[in-house]
Amino acid sequence: MPEAIATPKTKTSATAGHLPAAVFQELEIAKDETNLFHQTIEQVLIASQLVGLKHHQQIIVAQPLNEIMVHFPVLMDDGHHELFKGYRVQHNNALGPYKGGIRYHPQVNLDDIKALAVLMTMKCSLVRIPFGGAKGGVKCNPRDLSPDELMRVTRRFCSAISNQIGPDYDIPAPDVGTNAQIMAWFADTYAQTSPEHERHDTLRIVTGKPVGMGGSAGREKATGQGMVDVLKEMLPELGIDLARMTFSLIGFGNVGGWTARLFNELGATLVAVLDDTGAIHNDRGIDSGALRKHVGAAGGVAGFQEAEQISTDEFYSVAVDVFIPAALEQMIGPEKARLINAKVIAEAANAPTTPKGDAVLKQRGIEILPAILCNAGGVTVSYFEWVQNKSSVYWTLDEVDERLNTHMVLAARRVKVARVKYECDTRTATYCAALERIGKVYDLRGVFP
Ligand code: NAD
Repeated sequence: MPEAIATPKTKTSATAGHLPAAVFQELEIAKDETNLFHQTIEQVLIASQLVGLKHHQQIIVAQPLNEIMVHFPVLMDDGHHELFKGYRVQHNNALGPYKGGIRYHPQVNLDDIKALAVLMTMKCSLVRIPFGGAKGGVKCNPRDLSPDELMRVTRRFCSAISNQIGPDYDIPAPDVGTNAQIMAWFADTYAQTSPEHERHDTLRIVTGKPVGMGGSAGREKATGQGMVDVLKEMLPELGIDLARMTFSLIGFGNVGGWTARLFNELGATLVAVLDDTGAIHNDRGIDSGALRKHVGAAGGVAGFQEAEQISTDEFYSVAVDVFIPAALEQMIGPEKARLINAKVIAEAANAPTTPKGDAVLKQRGIEILPAILCNAGGVTVSYFEWVQNKSSVYWTLDEVDERLNTHMVLAARRVKVARVKYECDTRTATYCAALERIGKVYDLRGVFP
């Protein structure tokens, strides 16, 4: 196993579990340790108390402002109708319009969407963009839907929530199972159902659109590009050189695929990948371009000829410098955390590590770079897209990359400062750096009336 890194002394473990419990009790939340929303809120409350958020500010951030649930029928290709369930959770808009992706996945549920909306509030605050946090989703398996069915699901979902979103109020984007084409259908539906004289201004109802339809240069690779910017800032203190490091990936979709490609271009070596079809390993390196072609044709990494097929447990045990989860939430529990053979976990996926997994990693001296810092590049370039749509002035890829780099590097430095100021681990420090800004805004605004 690679040499372990000494973790800084923290005072968060002493506060964990005490004070947040009072807020859970006050809000009548029956805490369930396996519930992602409860896990997320507990971490946010620990950080809120460290930064000294007032009681009313703590209870505001502990719950979403709005939870919207819809059911809508869709005509399927064989002529029958199916009823779909969709969600939009608007967590907080103190800093600006609600912002967050839309997910299509069979396991989409209200509490997970609530947790992801909280993370969006924290992420937007951390990278200092003028947005609040939201998240949405439709419970479906997009792989089981034909392109026509996918389009009809998207159009019906958009029309079902269209009165609750808006280009200056709540702006969705792609997430797991959705992409630029889905954003194009979503934007078109919103435009068609808006008054004609407002249609020209409806394009920015979603970000992550195709470049030919108002999308931004660099949006597709933005989350991966943001990972590069953050890791360049955070890895040197951990004794790792990005250009020489080895890394493994869970997930080879938008975020995983782009992260692999950009890291490969800088000289880093991808040695193992796991996705929902299987796991592959090659110590001499996996070419991300060749793997992208294979995944495009085969639907997943299984069967890739230029690597050995391995089991899931073998995948977690592969020795690497940096382990990058870029798939779903809660994949690294205590068992997997005990197998991981890396110096650093860089979370590209949202909430991939459970609190129990986190504790095992900490105890083993493995540093965790948290998602709200690592994957904030996506929402940052979404913000750039929204600004470009609003102003009708479009930026080059170099301009986008440069502005993104500024936001990501400053966010990483903010986290380092918070880690020292609050004597806490890196995850708590990311929340502290985010919550400081939210607390200040609430101090200025007060509470109506
Ligand atoms: P995607 O749908 O493009 O890819 C998801 C990947 O996860 C696929 O490779 C899939 O095979 C894999 N996967 C699914 N179930 C799995 C399982 N059980 N085991 C292993 N692998 C599995 O999604 P994405 O947009 O790349 O998002 C990945 C993560 O990054 C999510 O947590 C998402 O919320 C987060 N994120 C995405 C963006 C963005 O701009 N797309 C921005 C910030 C954060």
